[in-house]
Amino acid sequence: MVLNKTDVYAVIGDPISHSLSPLIFNTAFQECKLSCIYLAFQIKKGQAKDALNAAKTFGLKGLSVTMPLKEEMANILALSEASKKLNSVNTVLVESSYGTSTDGEGFCQWFESEVKSKIDNLNFLIYGTGGAARSVGLAISEKKGNVSFYGRDYGKTKAAYELINKSPDNKDINYLISKADVFVNATPIGMSATAFEGRSPLTRDQLRKDLIVVDLIYHPLLTPLGKLAKENGCEFYNGLGMLIFQAKVAFEMFFNQEFPLKKVKQVVVNHLQNQ
Ligand code: NAP
Repeated sequence: MVLNKTDVYAVIGDPISHSLSPLIFNTAFQECKLSCIYLAFQIKKGQAKDALNAAKTFGLKGLSVTMPLKEEMANILALSEASKKLNSVNTVLVESSYGTSTDGEGFCQWFESEVKSKIDNLNFLIYGTGGAARSVGLAISEKKGNVSFYGRDYGKTKAAYELINKSPDNKDINYLISKADVFVNATPIGMSATAFEGRSPLTRDQLRKDLIVVDLIYHPLLTPLGKLAKENGCEFYNGLGMLIFQAKVAFEMFFNQEFPLKKVKQVVVNHLQNQ
């Protein structure tokens, strides 16, 4: 029940109506019997500071931050080491004006709990050099995994390598794939309801049977890349794991208590399958 003492959390961004964060957090609150509620607010580019001040005025406890505010928010908060390097924030402790990024840590926790028990010494090829690619690449590299980036823009690719203190690798995608244990699609290629719907970043003959394939997209749950990977006998994972685990990392930071992973997973999968 919502009472006077109920604590309020929210996700802010634009667009926001499709966000799964309210479903994830409200399920977790209910399961943990926390007197909290989690809302979604559409906040436009350029309004991060106003939104933070409003959150303080209204006594909100925590915020999740999504497109297009992640960088703007990083410019007005005290930051974790990861957020300083990435210049990006997805989780805010409102009262202390502290921001961090849980995407990379979420990816790594998910990977080590559901794919392979250790990241170190595995070779990851990350396709894309945007926000998700950089946060996942940085976190993998800090856990001693070997990271290569493939991007269509050489300047952005070089900058992504600089983040992990490496020089750019060979630019040939087939060479990079031949060295990889894990391929991660960190582009929107294959995402539903975009110009990239129905497309795959790799062709069938680029997908070796022993390559682990991860698509950070979760809409649809089985992307064209996932379909090709499965047909070729590769292990395939969609982006749901990372989505839920980045929320788990944020929840544990907000409450210092265990996140009800099993229940949240069940509710989110049911929701997406019934869409
Ligand atoms: P972003 O910052 O906009 O980066 C997108 C990246 O994709 C950029 O490197 C961009 O290259 C590249 N790209 C776009 N179109 C391309 C094309 N046609 N060919 C080659 N490269 C292309 O976006 P983001 O936030 O990193 O998100 C990337 C993907 O990850 C999205 O699908 C998003 O849904 C997913 N994601 C999932 C989670 C999760 O929890 N599962 C979390 C975050 C993001 P340029 O810079 O050259 O344009």
